[in-house]
This record gives sequence, structure tokens and C-alpha cells, in this order.
Amino acid sequence: MKVAIAGAGLAGLSCAKYLTDLGYTPIVLERRDVLGGKVAAWQDEDGDWYETGLHIFFGAYPNMLQLFRELNIEDRLQWKEHTMIFNQPEKPGTYSRFDFPDLPAPVNGIVAILRNNDMLTWSEKIRFGIGLIPAMLKGQAYVEEMDKYSFSEWLKLQNVPERVEKEVFIAMSKALNFINPDRLSATVVLTALNRFLQEKNGSKMAFLDGSPTERLCQPLVDYITERGGEVRLNAPIKEIQLDENGNVRQFLLRGLDGAPDEELTADLYVSAIPVDPLKVLLPQPWRQMEYFQKLDGLEGVPVINLHLWFDRKLTDIDHLLFSRSPLLSVYADMSNTCKAYANPDKSMLELVLAPAKEWIGKSDDDIVAATLKELEKLFPTHFGGETPAKLIKFHVVKTPRSVYEATPGRQQHRPSQVTPIDNFYLTGDFTMQPYLASMEGAVLSGKLTAQAIANAHSPANAAATATQSIDSPLATNAATA
Ligand SMILES: Cc1cc2nc3c(=O)[nH]c(=O)nc-3n(C[C@H](O)[C@H](O)[C@H](O)COP(=O)(O)OP(=O)(O)OC[C@H]3O[C@@H](n4cnc5c(N)ncnc54)[C@H](O)[C@@H]3O)c2cc1C
Repeated sequence: MKVAIAGAGLAGLSCAKYLTDLGYTPIVLERRDVLGGKVAAWQDEDGDWYETGLHIFFGAYPNMLQLFRELNIEDRLQWKEHTMIFNQPEKPGTYSRFDFPDLPAPVNGIVAILRNNDMLTWSEKIRFGIGLIPAMLKGQAYVEEMDKYSFSEWLKLQNVPERVEKEVFIAMSKALNFINPDRLSATVVLTALNRFLQEKNGSKMAFLDGSPTERLCQPLVDYITERGGEVRLNAPIKEIQLDENGNVRQFLLRGLDGAPDEELTADLYVSAIPVDPLKVLLPQPWRQMEYFQKLDGLEGVPVINLHLWFDRKLTDIDHLLFSRSPLLSVYADMSNTCKAYANPDKSMLELVLAPAKEWIGKSDDDIVAATLKELEKLFPTHFGGETPAKLIKFHVVKTPRSVYEATPGRQQHRPSQVTPIDNFYLTGDFTMQPYLASMEGAVLSGKLTAQAIANAHSPANAAATATQSIDSPLATNAATA
């Protein structure tokens, strides 16, 4: 049975991978000339990679980690020390760490917080700990209910001192959704905290050993094509065309470079494109349906990813850093953290600029100039003095609509993977799954979509054994999630 999937981001590729496991024949159609969507990366004329985003993998990503095992590429994840490192704006050039000891959860998290005396006082830690108790005791149902509040509102309701928000949670909110806690739904931060506190290695971080396009997406494409599937680049869906019953008749692909449009017919259709372009593509008759109308409540948030190459080493820290700068979110010296970008003599900083609303329309030169000003504060010894560090080159990647902006009330707008249309499914990080807008969410959504298809449409001609052997990992993971 042939399944046409629009979009070769992680959700589309994961959906195609699990469909091949279940005996279907997927054909993935990607608008751009690069795999990966929000994890896409490019090589410049010097052979240096630059990426859509600085991407971190967490211990609390069971579906992503299982995917790495299934593709036999686990050794590509470079796990770092179990710690979280924050810059200290009031003490330029210094860091404050939350070191997780080798103890079971949640003890390791509690010890990490209690041992850090730079950022919070004892009374602030205790008041924050007490505030978190309902989230830990009442579980996911409580976390979901808190979607009516911003994280700032939630902290106030729990009587958590304002300084806790300023010192820790502005940085965390910007890392999670590229916005500040006064805009971010409490559900997002509480979900992350729950995972981090409940799983021993939940907050342990890994970097991929090279570009996600080459090191993660390509193995997915190889897996899919070796099993009879297909992945086509430069294949934008122009229209979803309907039959007389309102089901999908075919995808119309836009012909590029003067080529005619192409009609593509399959047995089933999946959209793995982000919510913003999906809303534009929806056929007129579907727009009256409540299921699709709900999507109007979701919109991508702007973010900017910068790569700065310097003439010297700025730091030897081999980890993610929370900048705690008003302009920037997280950053890392990729010459330390990532094997393929390694350089013992020169730093390549990859930095996320967020919130980016005011910056997305500005020129690359303006964005780099403002970032360098911030770096002067973060690395005073390297930018002061007679021979300050020199910027050799840069790349700026702007994503005007990235993951959906998780403001309060968004959870009710997230659609299930199953739509009211018999032969049409959705997948993508914005669809309903418990990992919010993340790589883990994208991979899990692809798996859930494949499972939903298998539940409703048996793959004709698929070997019964193939279906059998793959059913159990899917079921196990859905349960884990
Ligand atoms: C700066 C940044 C940093 C991030 N950091 C992290 C992180 O550290 N950890 C983490 O877990 N997550 C992170 N994320 C989030 C993560 O990248 C996304 O959640 C995930 O990659 C989304 O995957 P997706 O498949 O749902 O969507 P996408 O990756 O957006 O894929 C959708 C695909 O559909 C294609 N498409 C669109 N329109 C059409 C059309 N008409 N026809 C055909 N194809 C079409 C697009 O080109 C794209 O390839 C980050 C994101 C960004 C932007």
C-alpha cells in the first residue's frame, strides 16, 4: 500500500521509517533541496556546516533514542557530563553549574539544585521546591490543566520568589520555546521539569557528532529506500486535491524550473509539513470542519541561529551553555562539542537568538554586531585587551515561523494524528503527543501516525511476519510516551 507523505522533516521521515517496518511503501515529498526541515543543515564553500538550530538530545527522549538504536547509529550521540551550566551576568566570564550526582531520580535533581549556591538562596530553593509539589504529586493531568497560565503566572500562584524566575526560568523558557516565561504556557516548563526530575538521566544532554542532515536524516532515508520506499527532494505540494466525497484524490506537486505540475496518487496521504504552511494548503471544504479550524490557534514562533567562527579558542567547555543574556538563549562552542566540527585552536560558537520577534527582520550584519556585543560580556578576557578575538566568518539562519508558539491555551488546538478524512493523516511536532515541540515530539508523532494508519488500513501484500515483528516496538514506545 502506497502512502504519500508531504515533508521530510523528522516527523515525515520517522513516519515513513515506521510505515516501511509495518509493510507499507512510503513516498516522502520534500519541498526544499535539503532533508530535515528544522534540523536541516548546509555546507558552505569552505566545507563548514551551518544549521537551522543548535540541537540537543536529552536522556528523556525514549523514542529518539530507540530510533538511533534501530538505525544502528547510537555511537553518533556524544553524551556530555550530567550538568547544566549557566553564565553569570553579574560576574562576567564565570559560570554556575547544576551538577547531577550519580544517584536515582529525583534525588540527583534535588541534590543538583541544593548544591548550587550561586544562583538561588536556600529560602528561594525551598519555596520553589514547595511550589513544585503539586506538579510532582498530581502528575500529567495537573500539568495539562496548568496550560491556562503562563509560567510567570504559575510561579506567582505558587508564591515562588520573583528572583527564581529571573535567575533560572527566563533562560529555560527561551531554551524550550524561544519566548520568555511571561508568554510561555506553564505546561511546557512543568512537562520538562517532570521528565527531568522523574528520570535519572532525563536532563542528560547529547550533541550529534555532525550535521543532522548527514548524520541522522540520511540514515533514515537509506533505511526507507532500502526497504522499497522513496524520498524526493524539490517536490513541493502545491495542492491537496479532493474527490467527490471530500477525501484526497491526489497531491498536486508544483513543477520547478518551468516543468509542468505533477499529479501524485497514493492509497493514503500524510501531511508532515509545519502547521503554518498546512493551514494555507487546506482545501476549501475542509476549512469548515472543527478539527481543521482548531489549527488557527497555532502559529510558529520566530528564532535565529548564528554561527560565529573566531581566530582563537574562547572556551574549552564541552557542553551546552545557558547565556542568561537578554538577546541570546543557549549556545555552545561546537569546536568542542561536536566531532565533525572539532578544532583544537579556533572556536565556532553556535548561538540561538531568542526572543527573535524584534530581530527577524533585521540584517545579518546588525544581528551579528548585537551578538558580538553580548559576547564581549560573556568572554571579557578574549574581547578586551590589545588583541581582541577576531571574527573570521559567520552564518545567520533565520526561521520566521519555527515550532508553534506555546502560549497559554495552545494544548486544546493541537490536533490528533487521525483526521476526520478517511485517507488523510497528520504528523509533526505540533500534533498531539506528550513531548511538545521537539525532535522527540516529531519522531514520536511520526510513529503514532504510522501506528494509526496500521490500525485503520491493513497494508495489502505486506508480509504478515514483517507486521508482527514491528508491532511490538511501536506499542512499547507509545506506552513509554
Ligand atoms: C533554532 C532551533 C533550535 C531547536 N533546538 C532543539 C533542541 O535542542 N532539541 C529539540 O528536541 N528540538 C529542538 N528544536 C525543535 C525541532 O527542530 C523541531 O521540533 C523538529 O525538528 C520539527 O520536526 P517536524 O518534522 O515536525 O517539522 P519540520 O522539521 O518543520 O519539517 C517539515 C518539513 O515539511 C516541508 N514542507 C513544508 N511545506 C511543504 C510543501 N508544501 N510540500 C512539501 N514539503 C513541505 C519543510 O520544508 C520541512 O522539511 C529546535 C528548533 C529550532 C528552529
